[in-house]
Amino acid sequence: MKVLVLGGAGYIGSHVVKAMLGAGHSVTVFDNLSSGQLGNLFPGADFIAGDIRHSSDVEAAFARGFDGCVHLAAYKAVGESMAQPEKYSVNNITGTLNMLNAAGTHGCKNVVFSSSAAVFGSPQYVPIDEKHPTNPESYYGFTKLEIERFLAWYDQIKGIKYAALRYFNAAGYSVDGSITGLERNPQNLLPIVMEVASGWRKELQIFGRDYNTRDGTCVRDYVHVSDLAEAHVNALEYIASRGESLTVNLGSETGVTVTEMVEAARRITGKDIPAAYVGRRSGDASALFATSELARKTIRWNPKHSDVDTLIASTWAVYQKYSAPGVKK
Ligand code: UDP
Repeated sequence: MKVLVLGGAGYIGSHVVKAMLGAGHSVTVFDNLSSGQLGNLFPGADFIAGDIRHSSDVEAAFARGFDGCVHLAAYKAVGESMAQPEKYSVNNITGTLNMLNAAGTHGCKNVVFSSSAAVFGSPQYVPIDEKHPTNPESYYGFTKLEIERFLAWYDQIKGIKYAALRYFNAAGYSVDGSITGLERNPQNLLPIVMEVASGWRKELQIFGRDYNTRDGTCVRDYVHVSDLAEAHVNALEYIASRGESLTVNLGSETGVTVTEMVEAARRITGKDIPAAYVGRRSGDASALFATSELARKTIRWNPKHSDVDTLIASTWAVYQKYSAPGVKK
């Protein structure tokens, strides 16, 4: 298929492009490089420099004619979305409407959307399945849920089929070392742990140790980005071949605490990784993990790299490259 990947120069996007190319699809990346990087582009993919907020850019891209698109061009920091909701309204919501309108105009009938476990809010039960009530607790999560609703309407009215993939905690790097772009100003646990291990940051702050979990720190479901990427390929092929939309959770189905993650990182990197327990971060739920049974059944998703050791070792391998003398971050 001819596939447009919006946000394809980013962390998850670059892994998706790699997986799409590997599956034999023809790929064009659309990215404004605000957080994506030229170094993340694959020679086998075309590149369009464009901004999802500008409908003319998006129109021009879709006018090239695509069978499907993967939409990852979004802001994703929960804390920032509460401080600057405008950014999230314009980029995430208006940008997606630009994408959907252009897809409709130019006959792109299949959309794979990167949604998030943030649509659920604090869980009423775990593991979280797709029937779990949605109640986002951040503006970021709200934008993802709103977009899922737009997708359902555009499916009904315009016949655009969609796959909404609700990621849990994306982590890790391609195990073959082919993707090495670091995220700028990371907010997530594992990159911050890696920055401490690399000596770029003094210590990790662990947010809260009074949660009702086995060691008092939050439980999360970390899923390898290459496993997520494969889900995009399978989901696109599923919706295109069946003409059926789909909403699925993508998690490893294993809950890991923050302390367990840090201890594993100490073991794998051989570094001390100084850490201090501080107060809770607002908006953090104590335990979030998925059941991905539906993804296994429908899109035949079978995560292979989402064990803690592979997540950490593949990330550490990338960070180590930047710790060599003379290598620029
Ligand atoms: N976390 C932490 N220190 C940090 C960053 C994250 O203790 O510097 C914790 C955070 O409170 C959460 C877990 O690590 O329990 C995963 O956080 P992250 O921001 O990576 O993902 P989220 O759970 O917000 O999707």
